[in-house]
Amino acid sequence: MNVPVWNPALEFMERDALERLQLAALRKTLVWALKTPFYQRRLADAGLKHPEDIASLRDLRNIPYTTKDDLRGAYPHGLLAVELERTVRLHTSSGTTGMPTVIYHTRQDLDHWTELVARCIVATGATARDVFQNMTSYGLFTGGLGLHYGAERVGMLVIPASSGNTSRQLQLMKNFRTTVVHATPSYLLHLHASLAGEGVTPDQLGLRKAFIGAEPHSEQTRRKIEDLFDIDAYNSYGLSEMNGPGVAFECVHKTGLHCWEDAYILEIVDPRTLQPLPEGETGEIVMTTLQRQATPLLRYRTRDLSHLVGGNCPCGRTHRRLARIKGRSDDMLIVNGVNIFPSQIEDMLMRIPEVGTNYLIQLEKRGSLDRLLVKTELNARLFTGDPRALDDLRDRIGELLRSAILVKPTVELHEPGSLPVSEGKARRVVDLRPAF
Ligand code: AMP
Ligand code: ZN
Repeated sequence: MNVPVWNPALEFMERDALERLQLAALRKTLVWALKTPFYQRRLADAGLKHPEDIASLRDLRNIPYTTKDDLRGAYPHGLLAVELERTVRLHTSSGTTGMPTVIYHTRQDLDHWTELVARCIVATGATARDVFQNMTSYGLFTGGLGLHYGAERVGMLVIPASSGNTSRQLQLMKNFRTTVVHATPSYLLHLHASLAGEGVTPDQLGLRKAFIGAEPHSEQTRRKIEDLFDIDAYNSYGLSEMNGPGVAFECVHKTGLHCWEDAYILEIVDPRTLQPLPEGETGEIVMTTLQRQATPLLRYRTRDLSHLVGGNCPCGRTHRRLARIKGRSDDMLIVNGVNIFPSQIEDMLMRIPEVGTNYLIQLEKRGSLDRLLVKTELNARLFTGDPRALDDLRDRIGELLRSAILVKPTVELHEPGSLPVSEGKARRVVDLRPAF
């Protein structure tokens, strides 16, 4: 069978050659990591001072894990491994209490990332003849620029539509006969629900494929998207700490997401014991960058839960596959593709004097999109009951939260003492979205 492929030498590389390449790249990565103040300390504590201390890939286990909190602690320069003038871009992502994490890229880092994304795109059967509309946001979020440069490298005509503005998205799709889109699964469902209202029928669109990612979704959701639009939808997994999109992607066979193991060392570990788990067992994805100079990361705990798929993929690629993401081992919420930690909401609420001590975060589905509802009690001392003042306060809280978490929640104000108080550990998050 003729398999569409971008880089056959690397994508079909024999496992033993791939592992030799990984070991050499890991040692190089240690050299880079040892240039950062963070890893100098961390690796010295673990007795690792030289790249030669890693004699085989098994020695990876002697390297300590890196967490999102480590990245926050090292913000903004503690994990920078090259001189600032060699970097050409940075991306940030949300941290647990609003403190972001930052990843720097050199020109070569961006080039490697672009190559990985190009591989993913071509593995789905998309080609230079496709018209690609990128419906994820351009900016610090990596989904926009990441896919953009990969698609340009493949030679597609790229429409950098960014996120939102459904009627414009549809207009662009119709006018330019978009054949491939990239979006969150919830946005694609929303787009479909908007077709009738915009006077568009699916057959007026020339769509063939969608790349869907940035949020957990089920096989049923994928099928629904495929049936509604009569297209093929491919799961795309990535995270800004590992560049962004381009980490793992489904090929035409949709048997799991090939993870590019020449660029990342992939491990699945038990999130409680942190012991590595064998193929088939569900645990946390841990990844080590093998190509990134500006911000090398060793054994980064992604907090995403998945397992390795056994057997070989009919496409012949030798890079192992991740099963679709099952959830997270921390409390991070993903609301319409945006990552939010409940602690960011609490942090902001508690800075507002008019807010009382009890609050509740509720997530619901409204149509295909997520809705974030923040219910907060008022401070008894400042509670006057004046409706105008309450409206103003509601708007102000909404705006302050939006600035902190990048999502505008619906805010509900409640009288002091009226929200349920749980005995023992407070239950602050109620997720009413159907299980994915
Ligand atoms: P960010 O660093 O902002 O790009 O967010 C990355 C996070 O989004 C990952 O750690 C996952 O929790 C989530 N994510 C990204 N892609 C997928 C996907 N295909 N399925 C499920 N979750 C995803
Ligand atoms: Zn495959």
